[in-house]
Amino acid sequence: MVEDEESIADVLMLYLARDGFRVTVESTGPGGLAAARRLRPSAIVLDVGLPGMDGTEVCRQLRADGDWTPILFCTARDDEIDRILGLEMGGDDYITKPFSPREVVARVRVALRHAQPSLPSDVLVMGDVELDRSSRRVSAAGEPVDLTATEFDLLEYLMSHPSRVFSREHLLSEVWGYAAMVGTRTVDVHVAQVRGKLGDVSPIRTVRGVGYSAEVS
Ligand code: CA
Repeated sequence: MVEDEESIADVLMLYLARDGFRVTVESTGPGGLAAARRLRPSAIVLDVGLPGMDGTEVCRQLRADGDWTPILFCTARDDEIDRILGLEMGGDDYITKPFSPREVVARVRVALRHAQPSLPSDVLVMGDVELDRSSRRVSAAGEPVDLTATEFDLLEYLMSHPSRVFSREHLLSEVWGYAAMVGTRTVDVHVAQVRGKLGDVSPIRTVRGVGYSAEVS
């Protein structure tokens, strides 16, 4: 947080800390810029009217570094809003003083959400089937599919190794674990369930006499 009014900084810090954020406060533009470069924060709450360097200039310099940390500008005046909008940096937000600390916290959360989309490596795609490892969501032809935990793990394992064929025994040990007291028939049952839920776009292929693979048909 870069804010030169101590009373505002104190209140905001209290609310942000209570919401689980670790906050560092700087009270000047150059101090804020240096701290942003040093600490690489997840988000910056940035006052516009600051000693030493304007908040918009702090933003401009960070962007010139290639730093796209989400910024929530705090401003008291209309002419400052014009300057913020003039930055056209995209994605940044502003809030006008006087503001409620609760709203600042909410806006910071929104900024973080927009700044952190799922990493591409978290999403496996095969034809019309998408599997998101981080949220454990699956969709088929754009429609959400409700899989059990084991069905998800099985599909994830197969989709993580495109076109590789795995035996039922291998899948049992990798997906169910070595201690699983189930037979290989369990794999067939779960494959059938996953296929049933994914419908025509299912990427799971039966390799006769060997096992299963996932590939784009
Ligand atoms: Ca100020």
